[in-house]
Amino acid sequence: MIKKARFLAKEAQLRVKYIMEKDCIFCKLINGQMKANFVVETEKVVAFADINPVSDVHILIVPKKHIESVLTISREDAGDLVEMHEVAKKLVSDNKLEAFRLAYNGGRFQHVGHLHMHLLAGRSIQWSKL
Ligand code: AMP
Ligand code: ZN
Repeated sequence: MIKKARFLAKEAQLRVKYIMEKDCIFCKLINGQMKANFVVETEKVVAFADINPVSDVHILIVPKKHIESVLTISREDAGDLVEMHEVAKKLVSDNKLEAFRLAYNGGRFQHVGHLHMHLLAGRSIQWSKL
């Protein structure tokens, strides 16, 4: 009985995961359903240019795992988050960025429901458009 309940709970979890990822634009870029130009790809993370940049350098750093937002991060995502920051470090170093900002949007400021960190640099950043 308990085994069956566990099985059903797992199945329900997988269904929710499938529904969330099926319509996610970043999941589609990551799994190749949509064409993407990754500037960096690691085991757990991809990075690509923002389609609508608000600064000279505007790169999105995205975990391959579908995490919805900062508010749904759990401890088991620690490795994904560390890898996102390692990718940020690499991009800062490769692009010789002397000054940069890393930003997350949340709540109604977040438009894509798949966690992503904005790497921003350049002469000016149009914060009101981020
Ligand atoms: P946020 O408002 O923090 O959710 O930011 C989402 C960002 O994703 C925005 O800056 C968009 O310009 C960017 N974006 C949406 N679709 C794409 C895409 N297909 N490729 C690159 N960037 C995208
Ligand atoms: Zn996703």
